Amino acid sequence: MPYCVECGGKLTWDRRLKMYFCQSCGLSYTEAELSEALERLHSMRDEDERSRRYREYLDWWLSKKDRSRR
Ligand SMILES: [Zn+2]
Repeated sequence: MPYCVECGGKLTWDRRLKMYFCQSCGLSYTEAELSEALERLHSMRDEDERSRRYREYLDWWLSKKDRSRR
């Protein structure tokens, strides 16, 4: 079962309307909207991961520089 992109609540599939409804916040998604929202969420997470790794690398590099100066 997919989860709501906004609040993380459970989504239920309405067969008649062909839409997902969030049980927690009442948001509705078509199948296309949901996959698009999930894709956006996923690329956002990738972006976070990249910038986090870059920061870690920068920290490591700077600390190395500090040590060699001493
Ligand atoms: Zn929701």
